[in-house]
Amino acid sequence: MQEIRLYNTLHRTLETFEPLDPEQVVMYVCGPTVYDDPHLGHARAAVVFDVLFRLLRRVYGDHAVRYIRNYTDVDDKIIARANERGVAIEAITRQYIAAYEEAVDALGCLRPTVSPRVTEVMERITDWIQQLIDAGAAYEAGGCVFFDVSAFPEYGKLSNRTADDLVTTQRIEPDPRKRSPLDFALWKEARPGEPEWPSPWGPGRPGWHIECTVMATVYGRETLDIHGGGLDLIFPHHENEIAQCEAVTHHTFARYWVHNGFVRINAEKMSKSLGNFFTVGDLLSRWPAQTLRYFLLSAHYRSPLDFHPGGLVESTKALFRLYGAAALIDRLQTAPDAERTTKQTHRLAELERIAKQSIETFDAALRDDLNTARALGAVFETVREVNRRAALLTDPLPTAQAELVERLQFLLARLRDDLALCTGSAADFFAEWNQLATAALGLDPDEINRQIAERTAARQQRDWARSDDIRDALASSGVLLEDSPDGTIWRVDPEYVAGRD
Ligand SMILES: [Zn+2]
Repeated sequence: MQEIRLYNTLHRTLETFEPLDPEQVVMYVCGPTVYDDPHLGHARAAVVFDVLFRLLRRVYGDHAVRYIRNYTDVDDKIIARANERGVAIEAITRQYIAAYEEAVDALGCLRPTVSPRVTEVMERITDWIQQLIDAGAAYEAGGCVFFDVSAFPEYGKLSNRTADDLVTTQRIEPDPRKRSPLDFALWKEARPGEPEWPSPWGPGRPGWHIECTVMATVYGRETLDIHGGGLDLIFPHHENEIAQCEAVTHHTFARYWVHNGFVRINAEKMSKSLGNFFTVGDLLSRWPAQTLRYFLLSAHYRSPLDFHPGGLVESTKALFRLYGAAALIDRLQTAPDAERTTKQTHRLAELERIAKQSIETFDAALRDDLNTARALGAVFETVREVNRRAALLTDPLPTAQAELVERLQFLLARLRDDLALCTGSAADFFAEWNQLATAALGLDPDEINRQIAERTAARQQRDWARSDDIRDALASSGVLLEDSPDGTIWRVDPEYVAGRD
């Protein structure tokens, strides 16, 4: 079995991934706080860890990988939103869990093995806090319970800072009840107008960090193989998760810490608090889901991803080429009586060599810390050659070329299974694109079809001037025509749609 290498934030280095038990690989990823519609930053995390989930499943087997992603369904922001609307917090969380699931489903992400919610594990949380108190790592103060950072000498190991460093450089919530500024809340006392749960320290609700430690150990294992999340969670969230877990279990909480980079707009992180975000729903009303997915995979997951409409244009155009080749590859077949000239046979042999190379590079790139950009580049090596040899590939190939057909179909299958790109038919993708694009540009598809029919009639009458006029008029509104043996097809130029953003 070839190895997977992952960048482990804990050691700040690339490491060979070795699961504790290859028959039960456990990955926990911090999920969203559900109080608003998901934005592109949420989509990036979902898609990145979906690709890792798919890779782990391929290497260890579909049933050997347990992927846990939580929903934070109790939080200040959720409570504020519920109060604002005069509804129960469940009404808010139900709405935004549904919105999140709709978005990530549309983006082609597999559902995690389990998606627990904080409110489902309240008793386990109070049990865990009690264990921390019993272990001398937490203390009660005025109906609250705080983690005592001085009781965990390794505090700071994930962010690679000492406790003293963290006190002076990080933004820390002040609270006079804390013994030390770095101590953090495990349990918060109930406040009027807020939901509360019973506990040995009085009614209240858990702090944010404890929920992930508990859900990861309850639904996963006391030692996870992989813990993931966005870069911004390293401190304090993940640092605190480690402290809370290891102060009780005395063994490693997560062996590989994997963090994805931000989506940025004008070099700033896309976030709800900065107000510079695009919701997934808004983007999906204008661009195919495959375009968004392609865009999110076009950069390495640890790099920042700069969002701009040009990126979506490029992604859509790349998908045009991919789907064009996929349609050809899906139709490929061999026949005993098919023949080719020597020159054609040579060109097909060359294509086979390129396809073989693409398959190898694709696989190596994904195993090398999920290098999706390089994996896509490898696919395009073959796509370019397939599109260039389209005329050679439309008729059945000689049976001697069966291996070529197999390789091309294998590469396409890997693109579909490992990256979830080109999953539908080319015809459906182009139809979806034209529908979204004409709506965005205020064009009437029936009118476009009518003009194409008129142009076809003009061409039959050899009225080339009229035919060219119609083509030029359509092109000036962003509609490009392509004549093929099966008739004329049309496609809206993505540049025109981006111009409207
Ligand atoms: Zn978390």
